[in-house]
Amino acid sequence: MTILIRGGEVLTPEGLQVLDVLVEGDRVARLGEDLHAPAADVVDATGCWVGPGFVDLHVHLREPGHEWKEDIASGTAAAAAGGFTLVVAMPNTDPPIDSGHLARFVTERARLVGHCEVRPAGCITLGRAGAYLAHLDELWDAGVRIFTDDGDGVADAGLLRHAMEYLAERGGVVAQHPEDPGLARDGHMHEGSVSARLGMAGLPALAEELMVARDLALVRETGTRYHVQHVSTRGTLRLIAEAKAEGLPVTAEVTPHHLTFDHSRVETMDPDYKMYPPLRTPEDVDALVAAVRDGTIDAVATDHAPHAAHEREVPFEEAPRGVIGLETAFAATLAAVGPDPQLLFERLSIAPARILGAERHGVPVQVGGPANLVVVDPTVVWTPTTFVSRAENSPWRGTELTGRPVATIHEGMLTHHDAVVGR
Ligand SMILES: [Zn+2]
Repeated sequence: MTILIRGGEVLTPEGLQVLDVLVEGDRVARLGEDLHAPAADVVDATGCWVGPGFVDLHVHLREPGHEWKEDIASGTAAAAAGGFTLVVAMPNTDPPIDSGHLARFVTERARLVGHCEVRPAGCITLGRAGAYLAHLDELWDAGVRIFTDDGDGVADAGLLRHAMEYLAERGGVVAQHPEDPGLARDGHMHEGSVSARLGMAGLPALAEELMVARDLALVRETGTRYHVQHVSTRGTLRLIAEAKAEGLPVTAEVTPHHLTFDHSRVETMDPDYKMYPPLRTPEDVDALVAAVRDGTIDAVATDHAPHAAHEREVPFEEAPRGVIGLETAFAATLAAVGPDPQLLFERLSIAPARILGAERHGVPVQVGGPANLVVVDPTVVWTPTTFVSRAENSPWRGTELTGRPVATIHEGMLTHHDAVVGR
């Protein structure tokens, strides 16, 4: 396949330049002005940014076991529509990804039906039950490099220490959903002024901060690479900034919804505002946005969490956790941090690819470089009403957004092309 991306502002190793990009096979073949390729598919990138395809460290594809919510085919199609060329699949499926053959199933299924690359994360504990270690050796041999019990934090410090010691030797990443189960028990939203007013059981900031503080003590002892998932509080940001200043191998992600909404949204009782960690205070939102700008936060990750409509037609307290985010990630992040293409590509592509060690992703556009690319229009105005995802539990449904991927190219193939948008 030959693709000519015409007239965009291209993120190259030397910075942004207005150039044409010619893709041949799985490589960038040429960069230049007024390139011609008569047989090529043409992507009009006038007024657009062209850069490395987005990389999402935190996606729930729901396969195996919960295919009525989403599956690898529909979830990766949503990823491609959102500009992503690589996503990390969380292991809280049914069965959970706690052994080698299950990780291989996810990888191979994605090769067969996927619209982007999928790297499975593996469980830290067997069945995510928190009692025994998962088959870390098998998972490692199956290519897993990032480990998490996402959905739950690993509460047992002794187990976590063993996992960290094992993975420190190999260079694997321990990713934590930091939520102390005792402090979080029965909490449906942030514990604060709004939960008090609503009389709803709250989940304190301390549930997150206490587990991160404990984990950092174990990182100091074991030297393991440690990644904090979906940071939501100012206190957690302080801990991460201190750990980074100390030189610990720590990275962190934030979701677009935590960069956008605060706990007052829960007053609507709309389950599209129910997520874990919960939406926090306006001060936390401001601090998270500042942390994306100053690098305390390395990556934006969606925590794309599809649920079927019938599962959500229940009271707020009983609704399942989480919202979808792949198709709105770029617009939401752009709205939160501003029109800074270098920063956006760093947080949505370059840094997450570096954390994963994914060498064919997150690479600024250059001749001979991998053809994993996205073309985004930063000014087009649109309103998401339907989704490529099987689910539609999005807090942005029906909300006017600015910015959208026009085309996504994965290994030289057009996996998304919206020729109408912005033209
Ligand atoms: Zn989580």
